[in-house]
Amino acid sequence: MEKREFKAESRRLLELMIHSIYTHKEIFLRELISNASDAIDKLCWLGLTDEGVGMAREDFEIRLTLDKEKRTLTVSDNGIGMDESELENNLGVIAESGSALFRRELEGKETEADVIGQFGVGFYSAFMVSDHITVVTRKYGSDRGWRWESDGSDGYTVEPCEKDAVGTDVILHIRPDGEEADEFSRYMREYTIYKLVKKYSDYIRFPIRMLMPQPKIKEGSDPKSPEFEEVFEWETFNSMVPLWQRRKSEVTREEYDAFYQEHFDDPEPPQSVIAVSAEGLVSYKALLYIPGKVPVRYGTDDYKPGLQLYSAGVLIMDRCQDLLGDEFNFVRGVVESPDLNLNVSRELLQHDRQLKVISSSLQKKVKAELETMLRERREDYEKFWKNFGRQLKISALDNYGAKKEQLQDLLLFWSSADNALTALGEYVERMKPEQKYIYYAPGDSVAAIERLPQIETLREHELEILYFTDRTDEIVSDMFRDYKGKQFRSAMAGDLELDGEKKDETEAYRDAFGFIKARLGDRVTEVKASTRLKTHPVCLSSGKGITFDMEKYFTAVQPELGMKAKRILEINVDHPAFRAFDVARVVDPDKAAKYAEIFYNQALLIAGLPLEDPSGYTDLVCSLWN
Ligand code: ADP
Repeated sequence: MEKREFKAESRRLLELMIHSIYTHKEIFLRELISNASDAIDKLCWLGLTDEGVGMAREDFEIRLTLDKEKRTLTVSDNGIGMDESELENNLGVIAESGSALFRRELEGKETEADVIGQFGVGFYSAFMVSDHITVVTRKYGSDRGWRWESDGSDGYTVEPCEKDAVGTDVILHIRPDGEEADEFSRYMREYTIYKLVKKYSDYIRFPIRMLMPQPKIKEGSDPKSPEFEEVFEWETFNSMVPLWQRRKSEVTREEYDAFYQEHFDDPEPPQSVIAVSAEGLVSYKALLYIPGKVPVRYGTDDYKPGLQLYSAGVLIMDRCQDLLGDEFNFVRGVVESPDLNLNVSRELLQHDRQLKVISSSLQKKVKAELETMLRERREDYEKFWKNFGRQLKISALDNYGAKKEQLQDLLLFWSSADNALTALGEYVERMKPEQKYIYYAPGDSVAAIERLPQIETLREHELEILYFTDRTDEIVSDMFRDYKGKQFRSAMAGDLELDGEKKDETEAYRDAFGFIKARLGDRVTEVKASTRLKTHPVCLSSGKGITFDMEKYFTAVQPELGMKAKRILEINVDHPAFRAFDVARVVDPDKAAKYAEIFYNQALLIAGLPLEDPSGYTDLVCSLWN
């Protein structure tokens, strides 16, 4: 029979897998059982609408069989099965997206992390313990079976075969022990298999059965000194009651964590667990998790958000996106409700009224959990913020700030108070009695903002400033407009409305400013005396309306809008540089014109805006040395 080759990438991965020193080789069983359970789920789901399936939920099972003479372990399911092309596509190629990543992990880190399940290479893990694998399968709706066989890296064969029932048998020929005694022979013992099922697959919702030896009194033996014999009986290993169906008080945090790690293939325990049990208009149970680290593909198109949706024990949707808004797209979990209408198609489910009820209550639960974390487990929250804060901020921009109510209490910003992250609620609590606004200053970094001349006055008044180092920060504050009635005010805005600001001396220096404006033309909207600069000579302000950082943001994301902030050149009339200019204006107007250019360019530099003509500017500065 013709031997078919594995695709190159899969072959390399297989070789690694076979020679792997991966310490948790035992997870292969979990992987095969979860494939079997998925296959049953698929047929079970089909059975809801296709009477031809002719099986009830309780007819489905996963069987494990040991053959000690042949040294094989078989995982059998009566799920959907595979046809020839599916065998080829599913077992001949390792999911491309996952494999490269996985290989890097395997090669890099001596494979301590549990990365096997994570990258969709589940089936192949069986080669860690087997030197030959046979898959015999028959697809639902087809009358013939297919046999797939492989010794590992040198390829595989596929041929038609007889198979009575729909489903799949995966037959592993277990390797001989290597240097380590019992390394593989342990998988030939019923008890080992039992322990592995308990450890990794206890919540699989279909019975996992195996023939187990039971001591039985031999028939006809003397009841006073009975003789025993071993009889094999089918035993169901897994408890099957899903964790989310159990009472919260009966489940430990360790169990919740273990379920998450196993079910969602995350080596890291979750940061938060939210268990919900609701009775009423709509009854449902849910188990939601906030991951402890950013999921592998999070933020890329390959990441699929959504919760698993079960109804009456059947998985009806793997990634139901309608249950949580975009802002919480990092949340993983399961939701089960007996009330969902299973006769509707998956698309129609989106408009299901019950689903809407569930969704709005889950949304509130997640929000409440985050608020509690922020209040009571600050360090945890900051870790969460580092992982997923950006998602909250971006969502705050959705629909012109439509999610303000939902998100405003959860956002963190860098603050001048203690130089640490702060929530808006905390800022407002610290506000001085006479303070009208929530002040902020945008810039590229905390250090850059601290050097801004515009924040001098706020500092002098000992007012707390939010440092908006992320471009979206200012857009968020602009869309929110206020937080609980306190408006946001940029340090860059002209008037900060503070007591003790300098007198506006624009009128007194009208000629001087007229000279500068004439020189700069349309490049500036206005030239005026600054009421807030103390030690710095100049700055730009944008007045009310769009600010420089918003201009930068929109230039980057939507240049076609041509958004431009007003450029008001503020001059510190007490500064020696201005005095020098004012003298030059009378005695050497050419030089004064150069000074005017320099004021403007300096103001641009400080605002972090690009110079219109950098080399012209440096020539100009140097020309003053003559
Ligand atoms: P994953 O399960 O992560 O997709 P696997 O390598 O374990 O990756 O399996 C590849 C694919 O092979 C599965 O997605 C499924 O389509 C198919 N498959 C594996 N085992 C079975 C099975 N027992 N019954 C039906 N299909 C299966």
